[in-house]
Amino acid sequence: MLGTDILAWKKLAREKHKPVHVILFITDHCNAKCGTCFYWQNLNQGESLKPDHIDKISDALGELVWLDISGGEPFLRKDIDAICHRFIENNRVRFINIPTNAIQTSVIERSVQGILSNRKNFRLNIALSIDGIGENHDRVRGVPGNYAKALATMDAMRRIREQDERLSLSLVTTVMRHNIEDVKKLLALGASEWKLDYHSLNILRGQPMDPALQAPTPEQFAEVSKLQLQLCRQYFRGRWGALGGWTAVMGRFLLNRYYMREMEGHPRDISCNAGDVSCVIDANGDVYFCELLKPIGNLKTYDWDFDRLWHDFEATQLRAKVQNGCHCTHECFHTKNLIFTPWRLV
Ligand code: SF4
Ligand code: SF4
Repeated sequence: MLGTDILAWKKLAREKHKPVHVILFITDHCNAKCGTCFYWQNLNQGESLKPDHIDKISDALGELVWLDISGGEPFLRKDIDAICHRFIENNRVRFINIPTNAIQTSVIERSVQGILSNRKNFRLNIALSIDGIGENHDRVRGVPGNYAKALATMDAMRRIREQDERLSLSLVTTVMRHNIEDVKKLLALGASEWKLDYHSLNILRGQPMDPALQAPTPEQFAEVSKLQLQLCRQYFRGRWGALGGWTAVMGRFLLNRYYMREMEGHPRDISCNAGDVSCVIDANGDVYFCELLKPIGNLKTYDWDFDRLWHDFEATQLRAKVQNGCHCTHECFHTKNLIFTPWRLV
């Protein structure tokens, strides 16, 4: 039950005084050159979290609800299954989400099977990034043939999902001024032919590698978010039943309306939960409340002691600032705002 789950997550967050949602960049290595990438300046610098550092982070974090394994391309780490197992066993994590450029089909297939070989009760979502149809996608990603490879990876994930219902499959599409028509086609394909469990839309954010790319106009975003909302009824009802599904659709509506205000130039400051329930740990040890703010410090200078860094002066000051009012369109954090403090988005 969605409502009961949310109450349990809130209780855990209240008791812990530490994040229940962590975005962990396990490597800065990537095999794509996406024009949309907001992390491009940090890519391929040879940084990755070492297993003993991951162990220390895991030990410090305690129980978790959500873990996003990110990068770089996370599936370039051969030990990604062992990393997930560590958090499943040590942190009792409920939901693991792994976004991927979906280029290396067989590697991803093997790794996903490896992660699911742990029989504990968790859910794994593989989020394939697709930003356009066919060559349009390949151009944005800077990788010829990326679209065909992503479809092959999608097939492989669907095959595994048939055998293991803990796996779900979603698409994440970056919405830009130039790809609106493709976004509409992708949304339709995702719900009908591709049998996805969800399709998430990210508004182009940060400083993308290709400075010519632009965020959509408010009118364009309104058009695709309306379509997304219609499909959410189908996605959410299947997952949470009639009442839970209706609640989740209302949540999606609130979020999209919040983003619309931002895009129309009337941003609304909210007291954001990033820095309270969520955090980001970079492959180089930097810790952020969210990737859009400066880091609160680097774990290397704290001898990998997450607790000390999380409660240190710099973090306390920034937390007060963020809780006084902040705004953006970063989906990862606003979905948590929606779960923990939905009234702030109304
Ligand atoms: S967006 Fe992801 S896949 Fe693309 S270059 Fe950046 S890290 Fe790599
Ligand atoms: S509102 Fe956005 S920029 Fe501000 S703390 Fe939250 S996620 Fe970060």
